Amino acid sequence: MKLVAGNWKMFKGPAETVAFLDELEPPAGVEIVVCPAFASLAVAVGRGLPVYAQNVHWAEQGAFTGEVSAPMLRELGVEGAIVGHSERRQLFAETDETVRMRCAAALEAGLRVIVCVGETEAEREAGETDAVLRRQVAAIPQHDALVIAYEPVWAIGTGKTATPELAQQAHETIKELHDTRVLYGGSVKPENAAELLTQPAVDGALVGGASLEPESFAAICRAAT
Ligand code: PEP
Repeated sequence: MKLVAGNWKMFKGPAETVAFLDELEPPAGVEIVVCPAFASLAVAVGRGLPVYAQNVHWAEQGAFTGEVSAPMLRELGVEGAIVGHSERRQLFAETDETVRMRCAAALEAGLRVIVCVGETEAEREAGETDAVLRRQVAAIPQHDALVIAYEPVWAIGTGKTATPELAQQAHETIKELHDTRVLYGGSVKPENAAELLTQPAVDGALVGGASLEPESFAAICRAAT
């Protein structure tokens, strides 16, 4: 079964979160998760879909102002977390080492993990895609509860999508390095979801912008069935 995850980024407070989940008509035959902002996690839990956070700290507790730990997420009923999203890597100094530590702590606490990898436009143009993927994947632990999302940075929120062939090729590279399911992320929309999701090495999608409306998210989920 394919997995489709909606990453809401810093959108939707509690009221909008409840409204979205009341309106969404999730199809059967696909695993669906939603990833609200920290402030909206508690109201999202218990409304029919697994809820993942968008980040998680590596320490159980401590003097880390602004951070949230895996046991805290578990206590809320959160089932998983995204780790290493490119926005965290680019805007908040996330490194392969902190990605590794976050993954390990989340898995240890019993959370599922979607860990993001992907090259920037400059890295692709310099012919470094393969090396970047190898370096990022090498930091990711092997675990049944972990999936990788291939998210080329140049395709995130830009409207530029990897061609199905390019996605298939990158997913094959990742699968050679790591025994895992691999989701594709980067401007997935109802119009392009089917062609991406029918690639044999594409095990699902991590969706940003198009996951914010119940109908477009449901359409992508249907394309994955
Ligand atoms: C994302 O945030 O993980 C993402 C893929 O965003 P978008 O679908 O908007 O490109």
